[in-house]
Amino acid sequence: MPELPEVETTRRGIEPYVVGRRIRQLLVHERRLRWPVDTAITSAVAGSSIRRAGRRAKYLLLETDAGTLILHLGMSGSLRVLPISTPRIAHDHLDIELDSGQTLRFNDPRRFGSLLFTTADPELHPLLRRLAPEPLEDGFTGDYLWKITRRRAVAIKQLIMNSHLVVGVGNIYASEALFRARIRPRRPARSLTRTECARLARAIKATLTMAVKVGGTTLRDYVGADGNPGYFRQKLYVYERAGKPCRVCGKPIRKFTQGQRSTYWCANCQK
Ligand SMILES: [Zn+2]
Repeated sequence: MPELPEVETTRRGIEPYVVGRRIRQLLVHERRLRWPVDTAITSAVAGSSIRRAGRRAKYLLLETDAGTLILHLGMSGSLRVLPISTPRIAHDHLDIELDSGQTLRFNDPRRFGSLLFTTADPELHPLLRRLAPEPLEDGFTGDYLWKITRRRAVAIKQLIMNSHLVVGVGNIYASEALFRARIRPRRPARSLTRTECARLARAIKATLTMAVKVGGTTLRDYVGADGNPGYFRQKLYVYERAGKPCRVCGKPIRKFTQGQRSTYWCANCQK
């Protein structure tokens, strides 16, 4: 499933191809995404120019003269920039055709993705207005984590995956960030010290930044000629490494199930 780094990688990948371009037409081949696509969007954006390719949490925001397209990749969605003449393949549901002769094509086998449109400030949209601070921006700090953990007994891993408190940390990056911060995933959130909160905030930023960097390299290839989506596999410390030696201490990485998701950790490095 695309997590925040993949979405940010996608944003950076498409940005040079879409910003400043006029939308010739938006074609909806399949309306039945997570929410039915409102076909009025097609006439609303036709002929408008794309000013900015932004992101809030896992939502891509294509800001046009007419309003903002809010696109979510869901569980299996991907975007490709292709010549308009490229034949569609299975699960190609949307085309945003540009005046450059290229199209921004959305493919999503499982159809949990979505396309919405607003003429208002997208930050005020019901899906976005209650989201927590962006982990890669300045408002996300150890102090912020300290405040939100004080009264919460929930396991710290589950807290950092709660998008009302921290956005963009999915299952992979939660295990990775806790390893980097040397904190056990089952620790009650309120048991973290101020120092640990600071370490965890830094670890979340570092983990996501690294993932964006690695993803960026892969995406340059995929936006190009072959058109294959290329979600990356970065070098991970613990995720899906159960039984393998810890990259820091050499002891075997452990695995358990937490909130129906697999958690990976090192009992020696994490306290
Ligand atoms: Zn270790």
